Amino acid sequence: MKLVGIIGGGQLAWMMGDAAKKLGVELIVQTPSKDDPAVSIAQETVFAAVDDADATKILAAKCDVITFENEFVNLNTLSVLEAQGVCFRPGLTALAPLLDKYHQRCYLRDLGLPVPNFFALEQQEDIKYQIEYLGFPVVLKSRRHGYDGQGTFIIDDLAKLQQKLNSGNTNSSVNQSLFLLEEFIPFERELAIIAARSVNGEIVTYPVVETLQEQQVCRRVIAPANITPDQIAVIEAIAHTLLNSLQVVGVFGIELFLTADGKVLVNEIAPRTHNSGHFSLDACETSQFEQQLRAVCGLPLTSPALHCPAAVMVNLLGYENSHSDYQHQRQQLAEIPHAHVHWYEKAESRPGRKLGHVTVLLEQQNRKTENAISIAQTIESIWYPA
Ligand code: ADP
Repeated sequence: MKLVGIIGGGQLAWMMGDAAKKLGVELIVQTPSKDDPAVSIAQETVFAAVDDADATKILAAKCDVITFENEFVNLNTLSVLEAQGVCFRPGLTALAPLLDKYHQRCYLRDLGLPVPNFFALEQQEDIKYQIEYLGFPVVLKSRRHGYDGQGTFIIDDLAKLQQKLNSGNTNSSVNQSLFLLEEFIPFERELAIIAARSVNGEIVTYPVVETLQEQQVCRRVIAPANITPDQIAVIEAIAHTLLNSLQVVGVFGIELFLTADGKVLVNEIAPRTHNSGHFSLDACETSQFEQQLRAVCGLPLTSPALHCPAAVMVNLLGYENSHSDYQHQRQQLAEIPHAHVHWYEKAESRPGRKLGHVTVLLEQQNRKTENAISIAQTIESIWYPA
């Protein structure tokens, strides 16, 4: 497998560039805009939206295998291509239960994995009963196409819930079937794990990390998470169960909640590389991006272990509308000892947009979470205007 097609041309595809060179693999990307990050590292680009299956047919003709950096695809139309022999890794049956957050919750629950209590919003009459069961605050989620907290709302009372459900509907008819309602988890921390599964069914898992979200967007990741060996074992077992059950070939990100009494619940599955695994580019023996290419090319997986005691990753989020390349701040960030700055070369900055990230490798004596947090604060004080 030498020619790998990637559906999606954002930073997750861009970060596969170096691994592709190392493995002697050529990447062909399907993405709508010439400004998308991965266009610069692709051998060739099919310019089209990620859900344009006609474009994927053109992509397929150029590639040995197709993988995903974006899961907002149209599975019905892609499955026609799969039936004609196009090789998708992961296969479409591995994606099918995951693309709708309600279906995903059902799939995880049916597998016996721990998830928050949840309901699909179907009948207006059900809401009262569902709220009685879940209690406020409650979490309302768009079933499809949510990312970076867009489409996730934490809601305190019935009036606000009704208002949210009605907003955007000009005829005031509540289109509840687009939403999922779930229990608010007063988590102590959020965790994540990246796992990869090969064509032969071999699985490797990355160190469990702690993630820190602000306004539902990932700001920082600390690797490894400071949790107990039992909790690590529980999380690794969740990853094995899930990837085996779906017969995944490729990399998945699994987001989790850790409650105050030490219980682990699954929040969300990303059927691709994930922001919580970016630290692996600089801190692990094999990055999640190389692992993804290894898996989809049918190569053996290699060690996901940290090659340093610990690391902290901080996202560089846009805070204004601008065309600046922020050269000065990037220079200052690069001067932090053991820092690796990754800049996605996006043509435009917008508030909340992921423009880059910085990973700092920590020495043994710096291993404590407090030190990781103080480095993250230094990075953020350089990046964000006072
Ligand atoms: P997205 O797909 O947009 O990333 P998520 O479902 O992962 O949305 O939610 C984003 C963030 O919102 C989570 O990382 C968490 O901080 C918060 N969140 C989501 N679901 C819950 C929940 N049930 N209880 C508490 N917080 C939640």
